Amino acid sequence: MKSYKFNIHNLDCANCARKIEEKLQANGNYANVSVNFSTLKLSFKSELDINKDDLEKEIQKIEDGVTLSLNNEEVNERNNSDIFNLIAGLAIFGISMLIKNNIISTILIIISTIILLYKVFVKATKQLFKSKILDENALITISVIGAMLVGKVHEGIMVITLYEIGKILESKAISKSRKSISDLMNIKVDYANVKLNKEIKSLRVEDVQINDIILVKVGEKTPLDGIIVKGSSQIDNSSLTGESKLVSLKKNDQILSGSINVTSPLEIKVTKTYEDSTVNKILELVENATDKKAKTENFVSKAAKIYTPLVLTFACLFAIFVPLFTNMSYQDSIYKALVFLVISCPCSIAISVPLSYFSGIGTCSSRGILVKGSNYLDNLKDVKEIIFDKTGTITTGNFIISDIEILNKKYKKEELLKIAAYGESYSTHPIAKSIVNAYSKKILTNKISNFKENAGKGISYNLNNDNYKIGTANFVGYKKIDSLNTIVYISKNDEVIGYIELEDEIKNDVSKSITNLKRNNINTLMFTGDKKDIALNIASKIGINNVQYELLPQDKYHLLEEKINSKENGKIAFVGDGINDAPSLALADIGISMGGVGSSAAIEASDVVIMKDDISKINEAIKISKFTNKIIMQNLVFSIGVKIAILVLSALGITDMWEAVFADVGTTIITIINTLRILKIKK
Ligand code: ADP
Ligand code: MG
Repeated sequence: MKSYKFNIHNLDCANCARKIEEKLQANGNYANVSVNFSTLKLSFKSELDINKDDLEKEIQKIEDGVTLSLNNEEVNERNNSDIFNLIAGLAIFGISMLIKNNIISTILIIISTIILLYKVFVKATKQLFKSKILDENALITISVIGAMLVGKVHEGIMVITLYEIGKILESKAISKSRKSISDLMNIKVDYANVKLNKEIKSLRVEDVQINDIILVKVGEKTPLDGIIVKGSSQIDNSSLTGESKLVSLKKNDQILSGSINVTSPLEIKVTKTYEDSTVNKILELVENATDKKAKTENFVSKAAKIYTPLVLTFACLFAIFVPLFTNMSYQDSIYKALVFLVISCPCSIAISVPLSYFSGIGTCSSRGILVKGSNYLDNLKDVKEIIFDKTGTITTGNFIISDIEILNKKYKKEELLKIAAYGESYSTHPIAKSIVNAYSKKILTNKISNFKENAGKGISYNLNNDNYKIGTANFVGYKKIDSLNTIVYISKNDEVIGYIELEDEIKNDVSKSITNLKRNNINTLMFTGDKKDIALNIASKIGINNVQYELLPQDKYHLLEEKINSKENGKIAFVGDGINDAPSLALADIGISMGGVGSSAAIEASDVVIMKDDISKINEAIKISKFTNKIIMQNLVFSIGVKIAILVLSALGITDMWEAVFADVGTTIITIINTLRILKIKK
C-alpha cells in the first residue's frame, strides 16, 4: 500500500471534513483516510495509483468546490469575494429602503437577497440532492426565505448578513489558530545548502541524499539529521525537546534536524533522508495524532449526524401543531420555528472540540512532548497511577564502573572488561552501552558469534570458541552478592570468572517530580528488573513507596495486566525507556517513553514520547491535558448554554432572529478564540 498526502482547500466546516473522510473510507479504494480540518491535510493509503485530478473530482462530488494540492505546492487561500458580495448586497438593500416606490424597492430587496444568500443556497441544495443531508446552509436558507415569506424582511436580511460576517470572522479565527499551531511546529526547513564538488547548491530537503555534506550557518536550523564533519558549535534543541539550555557539539557528534546552530558554522554529513528524519517523524506524528479520536470527539460527530434532522422535525411539528392547540397564529409559529432552526446550528461544537485537541497536542509538541492521539491527551487528565521502570527512566542509565572483581586468578581486570565490552557491543541496554563506553578501545565486532539477548537477564555469546554469559546472578548461576550497586556477572563456559559493579545515578529533580505527582493525587510505583536492595534504596530516595523488584519484562507485563484488570477508575500510565519494556508500554492505558529524541524504538513503542530525559514533563503533559479538557468543557457549556438561553427567550417572545444568529456564529467565534488559550499555557 502506498501512502498519500494532499493539502485540501476551500473546506468550509469540520462537518464537511468528516463527510469526505467517511465517504472516501466507504468507497473501498482508500484505507486509513483522514481529513484533518485543523491542518487542512488529507491523508490515506491505497493499493491503487492515485492521481490528484481524479481524486479531486471524486471529492468534489462529496463537497463542491474543494480542491487539492500536493504537499509542497503553494496555494492562495480563499479570496475576498465573500466580503465583496456582502457589501454589494447590503448596499442594494440600503438603497431599497430609501426608495419610496414599492415595486422597485421590492425588486431591489429580492436582488440583494439573491446576492447575499446565493452561495449558501447553492451549497444547501447541492448537499441536499447529493448526500440527502440538511446542513447548516439549509437551516439558514430555510430561515431567511421563511422569514421573508412571513413578512419579516429586515430580519431575513439581518440573518444572512450576520451569518456571512460570522463566517468571514470564523475563517479568520481558524486561520489564525492554524498559523499559531504551525508556528509552534515550525521545525521544518525547506532547503538545505549542499556541498557538491566545491560548489554549494540549495536543494529541497526531500532531494538531499544520505552521505551528502550540508552546510549550516549560524542562526540556521539544521535541515536533516547527520554527523558533524567540520566545526563545533553551541546548539539550541528547544524546538525538539523544549529544553532551552544550549548543548555543545563537535566533530563526529550526532546532530538532529530541527536544532538551531547558534555560534559557528558547521558541515554535516547527512545520515538519514528527510523522510526518516527527526523533524519529519515529529511532524507526521502530530499531524496524524488527531486521527485517533477522543471520546468527546466521537460523541460529537455521532451526535451531529442525528441532530439536524431531529431539530428540523421538531421545528416542523412546532410550526404545524402549536397553532392547532393554542391561540398562536401560523405566522408566529412559523417564525418561532425558524428562529429555533437558526439557534440549533451545531457548528461551534463541531469546530471547537477537534481544534482544542489539536491545539493541546501542538502545545505539547512545542514543549518536547509528543502525544500520538487526542484520546491519549484526553486520558492523561484521568491518570491515577503511574508505574515507572527504573534503569534509564528514574536513573540516568549512564552507569559508571565502580569495581571489577576477579574470581578466577588467570584473568586481569582489563581482560574482563574487554570480554564484556565485545559482547555488550551488540546490545542496546544502558548497562551494555556504559560498559562499551568504559572500554573505549576499538571493538572487533566480527569476532562475536551466536549473540543472544535475554531481556531483563543478560546476554550470551561466543568469542574465540568460548561461550560467555553476562548478566544477573540467576542468569549465570551464581550466588547473589550484597551491594547497593548493580552487579553483572561474567561466566566463561559456565564458570563465573568475575563481576563488574556499576553505579547509576538518579536523574535530577526526580523526587521533586514524584512529589508533584503525589500532590495531584497520583499514585506512583516502580517496577524493576534489578535486585531488591537497589530497588528499595532508590525508591526510598525518591519517595516511591510501592516497589516491585527482580522482575523480568514478562513479569512487569503480567503485574501491569493485573493492575489494569482490577482498577476501579482512572487510567494507568507506564513510563519506560522503550529498551525492553515495549510490551508494558503498549499494554498500559498510556505508555510514556523517555528520552525519545533520536530513538525511533521509543517513539514507536509508546503513546506519549518525552523527547528530553525529564520526568517533570509528565506533570506538564497532565497539566496541558487538564487545561485542554477545561477549555473543551467551557466551550461546550458556553455554546449549549447560550443556545438554550436564546431558545427560551425566543419561546417567550423576547428575542428575535438576529440574536439567534449570534447564538450560532457568535458562539463559534468566541469558542475558537477561547481555544487559542491552549497555545499559551504557562510552563
Ligand atoms: P530495569 O527494569 O531496571 O530497567 P532491566 O529489566 O532492563 O532493568 O534489566 C534487569 C537486569 O538484567 C539488569 O539489572 C542487569 O543485571 C541484567 N541485564 C539486562 N540486560 C543486560 C545486558 N545487556 N548486560 C548485562 N546485564 C543485563
Ligand atoms: Mg529498562
